[in-house]
Amino acid sequence: MKVAIIGGGAAGMSAASRVKALRPNWDVKVFEKSRWVSHAPCGIPFFVGGAVEKFDELCAYDIDYFKRERGIDVHTNARVVEIEEGRLTVDEGGKEASYEWDKLLFATGSKAVRLNVEGENLEGVIYVDDIENAERVKIEAMKVDNVVVVGSGYIGVEMADAITRLGKNVTVIEVMERPLPEYDAEIAAIIKSEMEKYVNLRLSEKVTAFEGKDRVEKVVTNKGEYPCELAIIAVGVAPNTDLAKGFVELGVKGAIRTNSRMETSRENVYAAGDCAESINIVTGREDWIPLAAPANKMGYVAGVNMAGLEMHYPGSLKSQLTGFKDIEIGKAGLSENEAIRFGYEVVSAFITSRTSARYLPGGLIHLKVVADRNGKLLGLQAVGKDVAMRVYAASALLHKNGDVKDLFFCDFPYYPPVSRVWDPLVVAARNIFRKLGLP
Ligand SMILES: Cc1cc2nc3c(=O)[nH]c(=O)nc-3n(C[C@H](O)[C@H](O)[C@H](O)COP(=O)(O)OP(=O)(O)OC[C@H]3O[C@@H](n4cnc5c(N)ncnc54)[C@H](O)[C@@H]3O)c2cc1C
Repeated sequence: MKVAIIGGGAAGMSAASRVKALRPNWDVKVFEKSRWVSHAPCGIPFFVGGAVEKFDELCAYDIDYFKRERGIDVHTNARVVEIEEGRLTVDEGGKEASYEWDKLLFATGSKAVRLNVEGENLEGVIYVDDIENAERVKIEAMKVDNVVVVGSGYIGVEMADAITRLGKNVTVIEVMERPLPEYDAEIAAIIKSEMEKYVNLRLSEKVTAFEGKDRVEKVVTNKGEYPCELAIIAVGVAPNTDLAKGFVELGVKGAIRTNSRMETSRENVYAAGDCAESINIVTGREDWIPLAAPANKMGYVAGVNMAGLEMHYPGSLKSQLTGFKDIEIGKAGLSENEAIRFGYEVVSAFITSRTSARYLPGGLIHLKVVADRNGKLLGLQAVGKDVAMRVYAASALLHKNGDVKDLFFCDFPYYPPVSRVWDPLVVAARNIFRKLGLP
């Protein structure tokens, strides 16, 4: 049996490893257009900011490991350029080659949304969507004094943090009225005041052009101009489905339509990771959730099914963690705004709490829980200290369709230096009890 996998990132390598583990005698080929497989784009800000010294450390395993230990036939510098039934064409370092397949996986990831403004192609204007750009961003950033980051989604926020760690002046320009626009206003206000300590944060401003002679010299917006020698653009991502278009059906936001076995509309063709759609566990609807942990699991499930066994991917919660300087930021499920957009009648509680017993040093966490009128949990957002463990806990409950009573009664452990006898999650749940008329 010949298995061909397009893309050697999280989803592609998880699937390849699974097929090979379950069917050691099958021929499994991975085609990856860059020089790396199993790379970690999530580590890019930490490489740029200096926490990771060597770029190679961002790649979990080297290519030989996959060939030698797992028997996967990895082709790097191999861009798949055409697909037809049972056959694909690959540009391998300028030479075209053709390979047969019986089962095919799209694991082509996502691509950066372009700003489409004048001067975008000037030297010194960089998109940070791709592992191949990480080294370039770092080299350029080291040489300059003033950097503009366009976009304050989590990648923009992490890049702004990284660049300030290099001692550079950073301006962040965001078209929406708050940073991390996926979060509700109460949480975003805290992120905003933290960011303003370190960067020139320009909100509700739209970039209209990049200007410069030989390379970028300034970023122009509808409200002003910002001199810089480097501009990093992080204004969102879209599914990378150029190859898949016309070959398989596309779904939500142009991602490849899949069922819970990660099968596409075409027999023996699968899709996983950022290029594929999945189910949002909270809403039960099809969604597009481009994050690393879901990508790995979708790849795992695709691999099991490609190997002829059966496993179903339940979907994801869009659980996420990020940070800026000393604060952690996280979210699982829906914000209040998102819940309202999905048509829920919501109740919410926003609280600020210490993270340790009052007689010990700790920090503060600001946390918002969103539920529907029947008490079903819809989401959690938090910012401050010890955010990760609360997002993990809420994710587990959301995954199991929990309600506010589950959040209240769940036995979160207490140890004075690291938690509270009434955990912030429990306090928020109790707050919602009142709003729902519970005793
Ligand atoms: C800066 C940054 C920070 C991030 N931080 C986080 C984080 O903290 N947490 C989190 O959950 N997620 C994070 N992400 C998102 C995460 O990296 C992705 O969700 C994850 O990598 C998706 O895995 P994937 O396998 O679907 O796609 P990718 O890892 O992007 O892999 C797709 C691969 O396909 C290859 N490819 C594409 N087209 C072709 C072709 N025609 N032929 C051959 N090869 C092809 C690409 O070169 C690429 O290697 C971050 C992303 C970025 C850019």
